[in-house]
Amino acid sequence: MSQYRAIRGMVDVLPDETPLWQMLEQTARDVLVAHGYAEIRTPIVESMELFTRSIGEETDIVEKEMYSFPDRNDESLSLRPEGTASTVRAAVQHNLIQSPQRFWYLGPMFRYERPQKGRQRQFHQLGVETFGVAGPEQDAELLLMCRQWWTRLGINDVLTLELNTIGSPEARSCFKAALTDYLRDQFNSLDEDSQRRLDTNPLRILDSKSATTQAVLDGAPTMTEYLDDESQRHHDRLCQLLDMAGLAYTINPRLVRGLDYYNKTVFEWTTDKLGAQATVCGGGRYDMMVSKFGGKATPASGFAAGLERLVLLMQTLDIDAISVPDLYIVSSDNNAFGQAMLEADRIRCEFPGLGVVQHLGGGSFKSQFKRADKSGAAWVMVFGAEEMVSGKVTLKPLRANEQQMTLSREELDTFLSQLEQLVNEY
Ligand code: ATP
Ligand code: MG
Repeated sequence: MSQYRAIRGMVDVLPDETPLWQMLEQTARDVLVAHGYAEIRTPIVESMELFTRSIGEETDIVEKEMYSFPDRNDESLSLRPEGTASTVRAAVQHNLIQSPQRFWYLGPMFRYERPQKGRQRQFHQLGVETFGVAGPEQDAELLLMCRQWWTRLGINDVLTLELNTIGSPEARSCFKAALTDYLRDQFNSLDEDSQRRLDTNPLRILDSKSATTQAVLDGAPTMTEYLDDESQRHHDRLCQLLDMAGLAYTINPRLVRGLDYYNKTVFEWTTDKLGAQATVCGGGRYDMMVSKFGGKATPASGFAAGLERLVLLMQTLDIDAISVPDLYIVSSDNNAFGQAMLEADRIRCEFPGLGVVQHLGGGSFKSQFKRADKSGAAWVMVFGAEEMVSGKVTLKPLRANEQQMTLSREELDTFLSQLEQLVNEY
């Protein structure tokens, strides 16, 4: 075995899994394009301050999960732990949010966490950020778009939408004070993490995984009591739109999300099929962030989905994708190989929808056919001594219940164009 191994928590996606990833990504692109979203690609490395300021000093990400380092010029840089900060930075820097915008991105994110199933140190997110629409119709569009994606992937039935509103910053700070007072009285019943958070980030206690802490929270004040009228109206209208669309949700008053920058709507899509790593997608509104980054105050709302967890979920449901060639070309000798190579080249040119693999490295017909079979190809195309003389080619089906055929070049083209049509429809 090689002495080098991938870094802990950073995973190789091998060729037998990449077709599923490609299907996941292509489906997302189709859905996003259909909704008028445009892709944005930002650098993986940003200044550390970008994240500490936007995500918040007292969050798990900034406190213990960031990959940060000084560069050779002693600037503090970080590998991005999420995509929202970079997108907002880019949008402000390039003056993109003078009018409403719908953006998406896809790429690796980095967090120093304890690796386990569905939790890695390099993982991938598909994120969406929208700017310029303050109303709940934008939040509704995001959620309906998620549902379209889940449906096309075949996982809609195993996902639940959890929804909450965390109100305006002012309402939230009143609630925070009341919650802190209440929890301080029960300090000794809280788990250690929550005791520590009481002073730094008390709202995070709401989604503590500790059963005793959750029991204490049963009697705690709720955000609903402190919600401002505008946030309440926003929330009610969002629920109304979701009801109209037949999109089921559960209100989870303890859903707060890990990052500091949210207001009003927050949501998570969860599943009971993945154990502890149950959330596949989370998001919400972050109306204050653009101005915090020096832009003109602009409402914003978005989400990020974890691709590893979506892949795991599809695998759990036996949803798979494969990538196989349509034609595998074998040849008997050097002379036939040359002919076959030219023919393969021509076919790829004239029938770009077909996957055409030519056998390399010679060998007997028997061994070449073995490789053809292993490739999963539907047809083998044979260039043998006979074919060299007749100018025809022989096609043998490997999968389909069809006859072997020997075709002239003209007949071959008719066959290939039918095959291409079939492949395109599929
Ligand atoms: P969790 O509570 O599971 O740590 P989070 O609240 O930190 O999630 P977000 O920052 O909201 O996650 O990221 C959005 C999505 O990205 C998550 O719902 C999850 O699907 C995925 N994700 C987050 N961290 C990881 C990770 N370390 N490995 C794999 N996927 C992740
Ligand atoms: Mg996390």
